[in-house]
Amino acid sequence: MNTGEPLTKLGHKAGGPNHRLKMGNLIVLTGPSGVGKGTLVDLVMSRVVGLVRSVSVTTRLPRPGEVEGQSYFFRDRATFDAMVERNEFMEWAEFAGNCYGTPKSWVNAQLKAGHDVLLELEVQGARQIHSQSPAAILIFISPPNFNELEERLRARATETAEIILVRLQKAKQELQEKNVFQYEVVNDKLEDAANNLAHIVYAERLRIRTSEG
Ligand code: ADP
Ligand code: 5GP
Repeated sequence: MNTGEPLTKLGHKAGGPNHRLKMGNLIVLTGPSGVGKGTLVDLVMSRVVGLVRSVSVTTRLPRPGEVEGQSYFFRDRATFDAMVERNEFMEWAEFAGNCYGTPKSWVNAQLKAGHDVLLELEVQGARQIHSQSPAAILIFISPPNFNELEERLRARATETAEIILVRLQKAKQELQEKNVFQYEVVNDKLEDAANNLAHIVYAERLRIRTSEG
């Protein structure tokens, strides 16, 4: 039946029966460096409406082509530490020699406005979100196998050989932690993985929740 009401996002009508805006879902993509999280986020963002992506703060230097405020907010360590002190992060973690954090007030404002928010995090940060926001949806992105992960990191060629080794060591540990999360999507064929992610986002919009959170 077509009620004539606009569908703001698949699975949601604006307002709902009592005309209060429903909170958006917090969706976390995690998995080892080089598995394809960033690539998948770009694809899913271009396909799913009603979804916004959080831009993290990092102490890492920009890679060629990365844009301040779009890829990351690039900050020095002192500025990052001051943000930690002021409790401005929803979660933060140190990864392979750099710090990364999710801006809390922006994410909360988006959720309140009814948008689903996508975070792309390494595994420690995803675990922090899991323990502090039980309603968050956590998706682990796996490589088809370890050799392929290594191949992708080397082919991306954005880190030195030394840092690639650090990231691969870290990946071995991270791959053992996937069972903490609710979904696993294997990023073998990019198209299939992106479709599976979109299905998860849509299905979660239809979940019956006991509270507005
Ligand atoms: P992450 O954000 O997890 O560190 P990226 O999105 O940067 O990973 O992807 C790492 C590299 O692997 C990039 O060069 C990307 O183009 C490539 N890649 C991503 N997904 C696939 C895939 N399904 N098949 C082959 N290469 C891929
Ligand atoms: P990269 O240096 O490759 O951009 O990111 C390194 C790792 O940090 C990736 O796994 C990426 O998903 C993760 N990351 C990016 N932003 C954040 C963040 O705000 N918090 C946490 N915990 N991890 C992040």
